[in-house]
Amino acid sequence: MRQHVTLECTECKNQNYRTNTETRGGGRLNLKKYCRFCQVHTPHRQRKK
Ligand SMILES: [Zn+2]
Repeated sequence: MRQHVTLECTECKNQNYRTNTETRGGGRLNLKKYCRFCQVHTPHRQRKK
């Protein structure tokens, strides 16, 4: 089972990335990615639908 998720910057709350994830374990994604708004790497969190 795959789920389409949006990742948002935890600093500015912009939704910068979209990805697919497998829904196993039930853990929320938390990835460090480059935010073009903050212009630094920030933690990005899976946006809850
Ligand atoms: Zn940001």
